[in-house]
Amino acid sequence: MILRIAVPSRLYRTFDYLPPPDCDPATLQPGMRVQVPFGRQQVVGFLVELGADTALDIASLRPALAVLDTEALLPPDVLALIQWAQRYYHHPPGEVFTTALPVLLRQGEPAIAPASTPLWRITAAGRAALADDSLRRAPVQWRMLDYLAQCPEGAEPETLRPVVSHSAATLRTLRDKGWAEQSAALEGATAFAPHPPPALNVAQAEAVAAMIAALGRFQVFLLEGVTGSGKTEVYLQVIEAALAQGRQALVLTPEIGLTPQLLARFRERLPGPLAVSHSGLSDEERLKAWLMAREGRARVVVGTRSAVFAPLQAPGILIIDEEHDPSFKQQDGFRYHARDLAIVRGQQLGIPVVLGSATPALESCHNAQRGRYQLLSLPERVGGGAEPPIHILDVRRQPMREGLSLPLLERIRAHLDRDEQVLLFLNRRGFSPVLLCHECGWISQCRHCDARMTLHLRRQRLICHHCGDQRAVDTACPQCGSVDLRGLGQGTERLETALCQEFPEVGLTRMDRDSTRRRGSLETLLADIHTGGRRLLIGTQMLAKGHHFPDVTLVGIIDADQGLYGIDFRSSERMAQLILQVAGRAGRAEKPGTVIIQTHHPDHPLLRTLVSRGYPAFAAEALAERQAALLPPFAHQALLRAEAVDPERATAFLNAARALAEPLADGLEVLGPAPAPMERRAGRYRAHLLMQATQRQDLHRFLHRWTALLWADRQDRQVRWSLDVDPLELY
Ligand code: ADP
Ligand code: ZN
Ligand code: ZN
Repeated sequence: MILRIAVPSRLYRTFDYLPPPDCDPATLQPGMRVQVPFGRQQVVGFLVELGADTALDIASLRPALAVLDTEALLPPDVLALIQWAQRYYHHPPGEVFTTALPVLLRQGEPAIAPASTPLWRITAAGRAALADDSLRRAPVQWRMLDYLAQCPEGAEPETLRPVVSHSAATLRTLRDKGWAEQSAALEGATAFAPHPPPALNVAQAEAVAAMIAALGRFQVFLLEGVTGSGKTEVYLQVIEAALAQGRQALVLTPEIGLTPQLLARFRERLPGPLAVSHSGLSDEERLKAWLMAREGRARVVVGTRSAVFAPLQAPGILIIDEEHDPSFKQQDGFRYHARDLAIVRGQQLGIPVVLGSATPALESCHNAQRGRYQLLSLPERVGGGAEPPIHILDVRRQPMREGLSLPLLERIRAHLDRDEQVLLFLNRRGFSPVLLCHECGWISQCRHCDARMTLHLRRQRLICHHCGDQRAVDTACPQCGSVDLRGLGQGTERLETALCQEFPEVGLTRMDRDSTRRRGSLETLLADIHTGGRRLLIGTQMLAKGHHFPDVTLVGIIDADQGLYGIDFRSSERMAQLILQVAGRAGRAEKPGTVIIQTHHPDHPLLRTLVSRGYPAFAAEALAERQAALLPPFAHQALLRAEAVDPERATAFLNAARALAEPLADGLEVLGPAPAPMERRAGRYRAHLLMQATQRQDLHRFLHRWTALLWADRQDRQVRWSLDVDPLELY
C-alpha cells in the first residue's frame, strides 16, 4: 500500500510513502496526519489517498515515521473541498491543507481540546450595579460588565481582551467588587432563555420561508438589502430552523464585521456554545473552536475567511455576510475566495448557501440575473425611514481648505450647531501621501518601491504603506537643503488637524489603523461616539463596516475621484460599495441623514446612476460596461505573477511561461508580460502575464496542462512566482 501525502511545501504534487513499519494499514484513512521524512527534515503531512501503486521505484520509497491520528481529522466533505480547491486554484496541495487547518494541528499537536480556561460571568450584584448607575464614573468597568451581561454562558478571558484596553486589570477590579466571577465552564445544562425573535416584516418573512424551504438541498440565495433592512434577523431565523432540524450553521463575515455586537446578538438568540474563529484568537482557542464545530458541540460557527474549511458534524446551511467584501479573497499564498468555496461546499453537501449584502459583488448580481442564484430583496429599512439622500458636490474651481470645500464646511457647521454628529470618510491614513520640496521638487520616494512614502506627522515618520519601510521625517530637503518641505494631499491625520482648528469646541475622533493600533482603543472610541462625547468622526474604511452611528445626520465623502478613475477595472464597483456602506452607517428612522460626495467629476455616468437610481441600477450599468469590454464576470481570468530583484529575470521567466502557453492557449488570450501597476515593491520588480477566456472550462483546461509544464520546467531560483485564479487585484 502506498500513502499519497500532501507535504507542506511549494511543490505542486503529493509525495508517495510506505506505511510506517509498525502500523496496521487497515487503520489508515484519508484525512489523517502522518509524520514523514522530507529532505533532511521531518514534517507533518496529510494522507490524501491510499494508492496501490507508485510511478517511482518502490524500493526508493521511504516509510512514513508515524501516524498522528486515530481517525480522520477532516470529515470527507472538507477533504473533498480541499481537493476541489487545490485543483481549481492549481495550488500546491501541502499549502492548501496548511491553510485549511488550525496552526496547532499543522504542527502535529493532538486533536484534543486544550484544558478549558475558566470563564468570566457577571454576578447578580453585577447586574444590579449595571442597572443602578453605580458605574457612571467608571466607563471602562461599565463597558466590560455590560459586555459580560451579554454572555450568559460566560466569556473566555481571551475573548474579553478586545473589549477594553486593560481587560485583565478591569476584570480583577470587577471581581474584587463582587460584580464578576470566574468559574469553570458549565457543561451543557445552562438554562438558556433565548430572546424572543421579532415578528418579521413581509419581505423578511418571504426570504426566511424561501430559505427554510431549501434546507436539505443546494440552492444559492442572494439576499440584497440596505444596512438596517434586517438581513441579520433573516440569518438568525433561518439558522434557528436549521438547528431545529438537528443541523449546524456556518456564518462567514469579513474580519472587520465580526464585532462583539454581532456575537452578542448571536449568543442571546441561539442556544448552545458558539464556535468563533478569527485572527485575533490564540492558537489554542482556534483549535478549540475547530473541535467544537467538528464534534457538533457548537451548533453555530461564526468565522472569517478560513472558517470556510471548518469541519461540521451536521452541516445545514452556509451564510456569507457582506459577500462582496474583498477580504474573502486571500491575497497571498493560497489565493482562494471563501465565498466561491462556500458555494462549492454547499453544492457538494447539498445544502443552501445565503449570500447577504447591501451592495452585492457584480459577479453575484450577474449570477442572480442569470437565474443561478435566487434573488431575495429586503427593500426597506426595518421600522421605515427613508434611505439617506446622496448629493454630488462639484468641487471644480471651488476654494478648498485642506481638502474640504466651503459648501461642505458650511454643512458640517450647520449639523454640528444642531448638536448632531457628522461622519467624514477619507480612505487614506497619515497626514499626507507625499512630502514635497517646494524649492526643487524633490518628493519622498520609497527606496524600495515605486511609491511615495506617506508623511505621518504625529509620529514624525515617513512610512511606505506598501513595504513598511520607515524613517524620520526630513527636516531639510535631501536634494537641495531647503527647509521648505510640504505635505502634498490629504490623509485622515491632516483632516483631523484642519477640523480641530475649524471646530475647536467639538469633540473629534479619528478612526483608522493608526489611531486604533492599541487593543481596546477602537472600542473606547466607539463608546465615546455613542455617548455623544465626540460628534465629528473621521475615518478610513474601518468606519464603513460593522458599526452603526444612529446620531450621525451628515456623511461627507471627502474624495471620490480616486476610486472613479482607479487603475483597476473594479475601482468604480469598490467605490460604489464604499459610498453606500459609509452612507448606511448613519441615521435612524426619524433622523435619516444626508450624504455629500465631493468630486471633480460630477458627471461621471456611473456615479450619477448610483446617486439617482441606487445600487441595482448602478450594478446593471457597470455590468453592461463589463460585458462590452469583455471583462469579468463575462470573462474568466488568471494571473501569473513573477517578481525578482533583477527585472530581467522576472520578464525572462514570464516570456518562457508565455512560450509554454502559446501552443495550449485554445480559446483564450494571453496578455503580457506586463509590469505590475506598482512595478517595484519592497525592492523587487514585479510583472505578470494575464490569461483570459470567455469560457471557464477553456481557462481551466489550459491551466491544468500549463501549470504541469511550469512546474516541470527548470526554475530560476531568483524568481518568485505565483498563480492567481480569478484575481481581484492586479497588484
Ligand atoms: P442588517 O443586518 O440588514 O443591517 P439587522 O437584522 O441588523 O439588519 O436589523 C436592523 C435592526 O432592526 C436591528 O436592531 C434588528 O434587531 C432590528 N430588526 C430586524 N428585523 C426586525 C423586525 N422584523 N422587527 C423589529 N425589529 C427588527
Ligand atoms: Zn529640495
Ligand atoms: Zn516601500
